[in-house]
Amino acid sequence: MDKLQLLQRIFGYSQFRPGQELLIDGILSGRDAFGIMPTGGGKSMCYQIPALLLPGISLVVSPLISLMRDQVMALKAAGVPAAYINSSLNFGQIQAVYRNMLAGKYKIIYVAPERLDSEDFGSLAEQLPISFVAVDEAHCISQWGQDFRPSYLRIVHFIAGLSRRPIVAAFTATATKQVQEDIKRILGLRNPVQTVTGFDRPNLCFTVLHPELKDRELKQLLGDRSGKSGIIYCATRKKVETVCQMLNELGYPATRYHAGLEEQERTANQEDFLFDRKTIMVATNAFGMGIDKSNVSFVIHYNMPKSLEAYYQEAGRAGRDGSQADCILLFSGTDVSTAHFLIQNSGENEDLDPVQQEIIRKQDLARLDAMVGYCKTKTCLRGYILEYFGQKHPEICGNCGNCNGNFREVDITKESQMILSCVKRMHDKLGYWVGVNLIASTLRGSKDKRVLELHLNELSTYGLLKNRTRSNLHAMIDHLEAEGYLQADREHQTLQLTALASEVLYRGQKVVMKIESEPEEVAADATSLEEQEAELFDVLKELRGKLAKEAGVPAYVVFSNATLTDMVKKRPRTKWEFKKVSGVGELKASWYSEAFLEKINHFLDGEPE
Ligand code: ADP
Ligand code: MG
Ligand code: ZN
Repeated sequence: MDKLQLLQRIFGYSQFRPGQELLIDGILSGRDAFGIMPTGGGKSMCYQIPALLLPGISLVVSPLISLMRDQVMALKAAGVPAAYINSSLNFGQIQAVYRNMLAGKYKIIYVAPERLDSEDFGSLAEQLPISFVAVDEAHCISQWGQDFRPSYLRIVHFIAGLSRRPIVAAFTATATKQVQEDIKRILGLRNPVQTVTGFDRPNLCFTVLHPELKDRELKQLLGDRSGKSGIIYCATRKKVETVCQMLNELGYPATRYHAGLEEQERTANQEDFLFDRKTIMVATNAFGMGIDKSNVSFVIHYNMPKSLEAYYQEAGRAGRDGSQADCILLFSGTDVSTAHFLIQNSGENEDLDPVQQEIIRKQDLARLDAMVGYCKTKTCLRGYILEYFGQKHPEICGNCGNCNGNFREVDITKESQMILSCVKRMHDKLGYWVGVNLIASTLRGSKDKRVLELHLNELSTYGLLKNRTRSNLHAMIDHLEAEGYLQADREHQTLQLTALASEVLYRGQKVVMKIESEPEEVAADATSLEEQEAELFDVLKELRGKLAKEAGVPAYVVFSNATLTDMVKKRPRTKWEFKKVSGVGELKASWYSEAFLEKINHFLDGEPE
């Protein structure tokens, strides 16, 4: 079989995604490879297919137990002989895997980096024909990356200790150049074929909301999404607890995950989520690396993360199977101070000296600024992200909260002049810059203690915008910051005028802000499936759930949502047609076609069951 036949017959996909073919060809021709693709881009295929075609055995180094188990489960479901070795197996189980490896029963072995320099694995490796080592989540090897894991450095020693150097390939979704260079250098990749596919995830719809009450907003968002699987990220363990409890009290099937829970509970909760027993996961950023659950249809950030890198990684866990999915961030000003506090007080990393630590802290603050900019921009959100990762993009994507047409533009030049001149007068009077709350209070003519103490009620700008709501004022001030008329000093949490501000104050520069239209102005949510198709989808989804339960695997291991959607679109009537559905390989066709075809035929012909 060649690579395309494998893709079609084993995995059930009709064609390669961008970048996949080039990497696979490179590896098959004996070259090292470096694949940089966004989450959900299809990196696994780039090492799984070569592993099946190369002689001997291939090792995949992977950072997390859950990730290995997930991938091996998916491979087995497609009929590929694979296994994993990590600390979740007991001695006897590991010996059994070793025996099978020596007997040539597997083509792919997933292994934890810690295992690589154990004595028994080392001597075993000498007896095995290892032709290929793939390093997944390769950014873990860089201390500049988000998830530095010292154990990843063992990969280098392991490869150096082999009598014959295998082909080595590294895979990551990390965008920054520095981490990319680190990976190549530390792993010692030799003239690798390399692809950087675009970082865009067109099926993800990005939205930032500035709700007055996050809980209320969250309930509303979930109300429109019942039955769908999603993750809610919170900044702290405590917030995870309160949000999860609130949702449970409201009857939502939610579970929780954070580093403060016992390992046993974490594992159990994660499984509940993977198997759709609980469709909503409320978690800190401790949750998710290596979660390949493909049917996550929304990721809501209850709090703003500390960087766009972190945000894109976490939000990117939605829609991995290519179906339309939502990434929604609930912003509040407090998030900024919390993030700032967390960066300032982050624990010492013992692997780094004080100078390096200071550099990293500075970097983190700069990253925070970019993240805040994302929350405040009124331009295309996808564009903002791609720009940050150094990628060209159209001005309007048509699939994010800022360019979906739920917005109308209003001229706020007059208000902007009032705000900016108030900031100037406050500074003139006090001799220092102040924060957004005090500025808003002064403009609203508040009788707040601090306002009166500082005699801000004597300013000519006091009360100029007294008929505006606080959130409206905040929105305008945020906008002025995003447009560069005000500049934030995050350390002191103050805002100051920039040179640009005089364009508005004295030279008549217009300021236009997009504001959200009233909900009733927005056209009713157009779903991609017509009503009848949605019904058929539900029928198939129920069948999928039943089959998954019988097999003891998560539903998405049977078929992904994208596969079900394609099935609904193609409406196969015969096994031959069934195989043409994206994501249906030969093994799965032979297992499942009968059950699914029966449901489809019944549905379309309206026969009674
Ligand atoms: P990542 O790059 O994040 O590791 P995965 O390897 O987990 O992404 O792939 C994400 C999803 O895309 C999986 O459901 C996978 O089966 C699917 N996929 C991979 N390659 C293709 C392809 N050529 N056509 C369609 N779907 C694909
Ligand atoms: Mg992956
Ligand atoms: Zn957009």
